[in-house]
Amino acid sequence: MVLSDGVSPVLGTLCAYSRAAGAFSEVTADLLQQARHLAAVAIEHHRLKDSLAYQAQHDALTGLPNRILFNTRLERAVQQAEDTHIPAALALIDLDDFKVINDVHGNQVGDEVLQEITRRLLRLTRWSDTLARVGGDEFTVVLPHTHQEEAETILRQMLQSITAPILVGEQELLISASIGISMLTNGAGDVTHLQRHADLAMQSAKTHKAGIAFYQPKMNRQAAERMHLAQYLRRAVELGELELHYQPQVNLVDGTLSGMEALLRWRHPLLGPVAPLRFIPVAEETGLIVPIGEWVLREACRQAAVWRGQGYETLRMAVNVSVLQFERDGFVQMVAQVLEDTGLYPQALELELTESAVMRNVEESARRMKQLRSLGVSLAVDDFGTGYSSLSYLSRLPLNVLKIDRSFVTHLHQDSSALPVVRAIISLAHNLGLTTIAEGIETQQECDLLRELGCHQGQGYLIARPLPALEALPPQKRLFLPREYRQ
Ligand code: C2E
Ligand code: MG
Ligand code: MG
Repeated sequence: MVLSDGVSPVLGTLCAYSRAAGAFSEVTADLLQQARHLAAVAIEHHRLKDSLAYQAQHDALTGLPNRILFNTRLERAVQQAEDTHIPAALALIDLDDFKVINDVHGNQVGDEVLQEITRRLLRLTRWSDTLARVGGDEFTVVLPHTHQEEAETILRQMLQSITAPILVGEQELLISASIGISMLTNGAGDVTHLQRHADLAMQSAKTHKAGIAFYQPKMNRQAAERMHLAQYLRRAVELGELELHYQPQVNLVDGTLSGMEALLRWRHPLLGPVAPLRFIPVAEETGLIVPIGEWVLREACRQAAVWRGQGYETLRMAVNVSVLQFERDGFVQMVAQVLEDTGLYPQALELELTESAVMRNVEESARRMKQLRSLGVSLAVDDFGTGYSSLSYLSRLPLNVLKIDRSFVTHLHQDSSALPVVRAIISLAHNLGLTTIAEGIETQQECDLLRELGCHQGQGYLIARPLPALEALPPQKRLFLPREYRQ
């Protein structure tokens, strides 16, 4: 008996036999009906088995292979690479901040985005490649018979296809991703190793905002180092190993002190001083930045209240806030509580947020920023110009200050390529009614040019390095002032 369901024909055969000769010589209609019924049951059973097997190996939302099927394909690719001596590539694709899409736009939109990304990625896969979805926002792809350069080209195209705007209903969404790649060459290790390598490379791409990273052996070492740092860091607050240094921010026209930026320092008894750029990412990954950030805020506010009491009445204290802190429920209440506990005048506190922190979810950021502003606190965007700020969003955020990133200030001179950028940032800030602070001023030339361009305030080694509270005030060097002000 042959039945066809339009896609995959299913063949069911019913055999009946009898020991007695001639028993089937007369097949009654009734018997035939029973036989048909039995065959239909058998076919249904077979279909169910097929569909269960399919479901066990595929992802329901996208129809892509899931981790189980992918692992089988990966094992085959590893074997092929060993047999043929032609490498293959394994890539892990992780969507950045996908949770925000789900939280803000709902799971339905999240699902549509995943389906659209799947379609885009499938267009770029060759028939021998396997693309799979292995987690909520994680895809993985194995590219058999592929050398490193070719893998890079394909994966860059995949990255571009993900970052192109996605239209869901009326909304245009922008998604970014981080891709880690490990090459399957002879002796590169078993499947578990390769997957771990791709994962390390993906984390490195994420940390360095590089988009794509190939696994390198040093990443193993770095991962181990980060784990150790995290262990030490866990106890740093209670052991009193953290300290704040303060860097003055001055008015570029008359040199008066306008504020201080609190910068975190960690001195471990064995490791010695650890640079913030090394330990802050670890603190963010582990969530430790939340208690540490609260400690920083409390300590900086306490110090600011002391200085203001000593006669620096207009001094503002700038404190860096990590995105993890900013997005936490209860952040605004925590700030209010710290202000109350330390008795600092709220107008004296300025919170520095990075561009990417604010832009992750503009509506929610704007809401939270308004609450902070209503406490009296002012808000700065740190490292401005390095992220992907959309200018239209910028005007909708209740900001006070733009901090021009050090990378534009370094080597700033009349014919440097950074000059037009700095000029544009300053004019943008003027139009939006924002104060500009240039970071990392190291030379008199940079300082003079920034002043001419109309930048309000500056901060950098030329004026003063970050120093412990007892040495930070008043900033000693007057060199940065225009000639007529120098003593
Ligand atoms: P940032 O907030 O942009 O701070 C400015 C960084 O530039 C500081 O580095 C400062 O020491 C350095 N700097 C200032 N003037 C100059 C200069 O003239 N030349 C050069 N080459 N560098 C200059 P630092 O202290 O190493 O901090 C690095 C980053 O770590 C900070 O960048 C900030 O993003 C983060 N950070 C520091 N303290 C905290 C904190 O308490 N909480 C959080 N979440 N992040 C922090
Ligand atoms: Mg800062
Ligand atoms: Mg900065």
